[in-house]
Amino acid sequence: MTLSIFVLGVVQGVGYRPFVARLAEELGVKGTVRNNSGVVEITAAADKQAMENFLHRLKSQQPSGAQVARVVARPVPEQQFADFRIIESSRSNAETPLFPPDLPICEDCLNEMRNPADRRYRYPFISCVACGPRYSILESLPYDREGITMRDFPMCGDCETEYTTQTRRRHAQTISCLECGPQLLFSHGEETRSKEDALQKGISLLQSGAVLALKGIGGYQFACLPTNPEAVERLRQIKRRDKKPFAVMFPNMESIRAVCSVSEEEETLLRSPARPIVLLGKKAEPFCDGVSGESRFLGAFLPYTGLHQLLTDACGPLVMTSGNLSGEPILIRDEDVLNLEPDLLGGVLYHTRRIVTPLDDSVARVICGTPQLIRRSRGYVPAPLFLEQQAEKPILAMGGDLKACFCLMQGGRAYLSQYFGDLEEYASEQVYRQNLTRMERIFGISPAAAVCDLHPGYRTGKIAEQTGLPLLKIQHHHAHVASVMAEYGLSHCLGAAFDGTGYGTDGCVWGGEFLYCRGTSFERVAQLSYVTLCGGDAASKDAALTALCYRFAAGEETDDPRAPMVRAALNHRINTAESSSMGRLFDAVSALLGIRSYNTYEGECAIALENAAAQAKTQEIIPYPLDFEIKEDRGIMKLDQVALVQSIAKAVRQGVEVPAIALGFHLALARAVQEVFRTVRRKNGETVAALSGGVFSNRLLTEECVRLLTEDGFTVYLNSDVPCGDGGISLGQAWLAAQMVPETDGSQWSRKDG
Ligand code: ZN
Ligand code: ZN
Ligand code: FE
Repeated sequence: MTLSIFVLGVVQGVGYRPFVARLAEELGVKGTVRNNSGVVEITAAADKQAMENFLHRLKSQQPSGAQVARVVARPVPEQQFADFRIIESSRSNAETPLFPPDLPICEDCLNEMRNPADRRYRYPFISCVACGPRYSILESLPYDREGITMRDFPMCGDCETEYTTQTRRRHAQTISCLECGPQLLFSHGEETRSKEDALQKGISLLQSGAVLALKGIGGYQFACLPTNPEAVERLRQIKRRDKKPFAVMFPNMESIRAVCSVSEEEETLLRSPARPIVLLGKKAEPFCDGVSGESRFLGAFLPYTGLHQLLTDACGPLVMTSGNLSGEPILIRDEDVLNLEPDLLGGVLYHTRRIVTPLDDSVARVICGTPQLIRRSRGYVPAPLFLEQQAEKPILAMGGDLKACFCLMQGGRAYLSQYFGDLEEYASEQVYRQNLTRMERIFGISPAAAVCDLHPGYRTGKIAEQTGLPLLKIQHHHAHVASVMAEYGLSHCLGAAFDGTGYGTDGCVWGGEFLYCRGTSFERVAQLSYVTLCGGDAASKDAALTALCYRFAAGEETDDPRAPMVRAALNHRINTAESSSMGRLFDAVSALLGIRSYNTYEGECAIALENAAAQAKTQEIIPYPLDFEIKEDRGIMKLDQVALVQSIAKAVRQGVEVPAIALGFHLALARAVQEVFRTVRRKNGETVAALSGGVFSNRLLTEECVRLLTEDGFTVYLNSDVPCGDGGISLGQAWLAAQMVPETDGSQWSRKDG
């Protein structure tokens, strides 16, 4: 029999065709394989048994770095072949191309790098068809030496020979060696070194407690020993970052296990080709407080380049954090780093291979047994998500201004950009714009419509307007819930969208929302009751101020020196807003309990509150009994947050232990979620639940909600391939727009089904 087989997914630039050829030869299958616009196309002739084996192996196996999304086979007229061979790529423009993300160093290359007899012994930039940088150094497609920054390094004779003959390096566009490739360099002030000498200098500096800048894959990183408090403190000075925990890179799995508990799913995630930072529960506190002292979790990851492996093998675990100044984009240009903070930085370890696309390390975790991305960047971008929904015309979805990330959708493929940080930083907006243009060009996508957030002040909205495309505006929390619907192809669900802030359809600050979603429409069925807050967006960091506003709403007395000013602002409605934000409620409770009253980084107060609750759980402290009153008001259920704050203030006055209240608060919220879901199910039979929004980064709350809802018979969906925070909303926006059509003048959109 003869079959035409298509393999969809990330199968270009990862040695996929040689893999197919080996498989075919092994099983006695004859025919051809070629790339066709990023899809692998196989024509296979074999007997039935061999063909079944072949298909089974294609579906269940893949070379490292490949991500097979689907294998489609259909019978074609009988053909005869003498053998199985790799044939010329064909370029049709039917589908957008697929291109692999950056790949971690493979086992074979690692072994060569450690083998004194190998010609690439201790060469940090060793790579082959299955490993090495990809998207970060891509300038244009097609993927060949001329299209990537390796074109600055002409191959030597030996590399040339391997390129044409060696199985593992045939057509390996990134190959190089100590002769011809990028070389390691060290620089500090006047001092410069190269190759092994540079490496040795870097190692001895790290061991002596210096902070180094290293050139990684998607940008510079800062590294230092996690056991050296002065080094960690210096790193915080360089990054101008107060408290946010740092991630640590470990030389191997065993060293991670020594300090963190690691489940099977977490190990799979740590070892996956993206090599993300994975948030793991700490067993003990192995490092100095400055690393992640206050957190229950440690962001741990494995080396993904030869350089990382050589450094961690020599120094042990290293703090490894994005090389940027707080809030700004990750640095990718040598000239921006070489003169940075010479007094604080012990030196720069780098090389001359240019980075084209800035990509931070990705961050992920396992929750309820499933991986969930928190920051989707290196190792994931630019692999698209394959959606069930098809976009008739290419769509550009802008995402939001915080944790900005856009999405280009064409056909059933959604290409999400990397993480850009917050666009209020001018430099971040520039990087966002540059990468939008770049991604459109590389993938040949010219959007026919744009989608943005409803917020009138968002920069992403301005950028969308400047495109001149028909523009659709989507409410923030609707986009959150839709991001879950897109991932699982849901046609309806009841979504809980909890986050810090999003512009509501009534102009209020939303963030504690229950949206009943059907197709592209939503109905707000429940919300946190409104409370009046003052101070605008800037005040969202000041949890003590938020708590004061809640105190006034609750009629609580306070001798806080700022009280008269706040009272005046609230009474005269100066810079005030009605808020149903869940994030602000967490801030207020954290401040009322005296846990934390200022956010030096996003979510700091909420994280401290969760930690207090988790402490109560581990110490088996009985949670203080709290409950939300839920009242129906003009068809919308209102969770009375002011009454809850009153009960909490009362408990504090009575001297109830803080962890007991913190845990009681989390449990009360989870029960309220359950109550709302039950009520909605009674009315309309909805049993599909989706939880999204940044507040669900809270592990304790998420696990409790999932447990209660699952026990109650709901099917619960969480974000997995995209973050539950604002980094995921562009997917929801694109998915909604794909099901709607703009009027020709762009003034209105209607649903396809009318
Ligand atoms: Zn390799
Ligand atoms: Zn060479
Ligand atoms: Fe949000």
